[in-house]
Amino acid sequence: MTSTDIGPVDRLMVIDGKDVEAVSGKRYERTSPAHDVVVGTYPDATAEDVDRAATAARRAFDEGPWPRMSGTERSAVLLRVAELIRRDADDLARTEVLEMGKPISQARDEVEATAELWAYSATLARHAYGDAHNMLGADVLAVVINEPVGVVAMITPWNFPLLIISQKLPFALAVGCTAVVKPSELTSGTTVHLGRLLVEAGVPDGVVNVLTSAGGAGRPLTNHPSIDMISFTGSTEVGRIIARTAGEQLKKVELELGGKNPQLVCADADLKAAMDGVVFGVYFNAGECCNSGSRVLVERSIANDFQAAVVEHARQVPVGDPLDPSTKVGAITSQEQLDTIERYVGEGRAAGAQLLLGGERMATPAGRFYHPTIFAGVSPDMSIAREEIFGPVLSMLTFDSLDEAIRIANSTAFGLSAGIWTRNIDSALRAAREIRAGTIWVNRWMDGYPELPFGGFGESGLGRELGRNAIHEFTETKTIQLQIGPRRSSWLSGHLSQEH
Ligand code: ADP
Repeated sequence: MTSTDIGPVDRLMVIDGKDVEAVSGKRYERTSPAHDVVVGTYPDATAEDVDRAATAARRAFDEGPWPRMSGTERSAVLLRVAELIRRDADDLARTEVLEMGKPISQARDEVEATAELWAYSATLARHAYGDAHNMLGADVLAVVINEPVGVVAMITPWNFPLLIISQKLPFALAVGCTAVVKPSELTSGTTVHLGRLLVEAGVPDGVVNVLTSAGGAGRPLTNHPSIDMISFTGSTEVGRIIARTAGEQLKKVELELGGKNPQLVCADADLKAAMDGVVFGVYFNAGECCNSGSRVLVERSIANDFQAAVVEHARQVPVGDPLDPSTKVGAITSQEQLDTIERYVGEGRAAGAQLLLGGERMATPAGRFYHPTIFAGVSPDMSIAREEIFGPVLSMLTFDSLDEAIRIANSTAFGLSAGIWTRNIDSALRAAREIRAGTIWVNRWMDGYPELPFGGFGESGLGRELGRNAIHEFTETKTIQLQIGPRRSSWLSGHLSQEH
């Protein structure tokens, strides 16, 4: 495959079941970060388009059949979507590669994982039942039911475009919500494609609307009065803005934000497995991953040998054209992201961390690529130890005791995920209990399952996606209290006549 085979695809938005241009008629372009070739063009939505989409979603919720359909019927539609995703897997994976820059093998895995999310959510559509209280007294029965929260705005980032929208949308649809979806302007292709698959699968008009925008649609969408809930994945910085909007307008909000995820490597670990997990953890998706294992804490007695082994292993990671099936690390998705990586590497150097590998952009004829980079001798106060870089940059720190390791692990504002490599069950359990993070991996790293809740503590977010937990994220709880038989006492006189 050469860059000359890559032509632009002109796509449309999906509003109220129709493929549409933006009201303004304007479009924006996406250039492949690996090939410097325009690969897609999109309508550039503004507030007017947001209003059309949000109004369609509102009507589909208030009047439409979707929220009132049985779970079985919704489940059948969600399963059809899973099948259609598998049918179009090659096309979806290729779009992901060309817009995001990730390797084709990983894009294919992402598409398959996405199909699994839709298939799993179909099971939840039939399990969103509530609770019953039969022991509150002889004359009362209460039932607690889940109702769809309403119209959900979903705003997603560029690192796993298809997977991340599918951590939200099928779950919201399963319980009867409707949605307005806005993917990142850098990677809109697979989300628009998904929007069309939903129409094909039989999702009624207006239930899911996909807006594409170069930047003008996000704010009007979160502010729109027809939106009941905002579900956002992206940077902590934008997450704060969205939480503020949700706070002012008292909209429900769910946020998946950044991480500076620590991996603890103890001297008693299977060090070969740990080394492989560390290299995978930081270079997977070029480190453009909220779950990136970007902070590795190594027990001092093995630190030199372990660091040397990690450097050796990292040197062998194939970086390059993401369309090549043997590539493991592709392009850096945007110039802005490359600038961020370069800034942090500069800060690491200036702070006195020891650069063991990489530390610079790769010289390539096209695209933007960054050498796998490793810093050792990092101290917990350096910015490369505390802040999310979102690139292929590993910071290695050392510890002398498990207490110290846990303290360092907990010393950032984030709390998305963490891991420990050890053969000692007590160390594993202590770390799992005491590290404040939404997911803890023991002797493994970064796998996920539709069944398991995902989300973070602290500045990593609010709420949890996936699993049966998602039912509660996308529903309101309603309590219904029922009188059984006659009302037995009067508020005023203490007794009621027994006429009934
Ligand atoms: P990333 O850099 O990972 O894409 P961002 O937080 O910058 O993370 O963006 C995530 C998503 O949020 C993108 O779809 C982006 O267009 C959108 N976005 C950015 N700013 C705002 C905002 N003020 N309101 C709503 N959405 C926004």
